[in-house]
Amino acid sequence: MRNRPFACRYGCGSAYNDSGSRHTHEKKKHGASFPRARAAEEEEAETNAAVNAIPGYQQQQQVQQQQQMQQLQQVQQQQMADGRMVYHIPVVGGSAYN
Ligand SMILES: [Zn+2]
Repeated sequence: MRNRPFACRYGCGSAYNDSGSRHTHEKKKHGASFPRARAAEEEEAETNAAVNAIPGYQQQQQVQQQQQMQQLQQVQQQQMADGRMVYHIPVVGGSAYN
């Protein structure tokens, strides 16, 4: 088993170097690709593993999340300010200097 990380999930011992070939094998030999929910979980786990292997990626994610939170708060504050404007009726033509 060298360079073939995608072992048949039905456990027949076949392994492939890409998920597409494994999918084809599973469909051909076993009637269908391995149940989808489980496959999705595995692929997600693979993606997470790959993502976690990138140095600084999680920190970047945290910074992005913080920036998004700040933007959201700013929008909320803006909306609140806009809401106050509705109740704060500006004085029109009521200048004290007239
Ligand atoms: Zn198989």
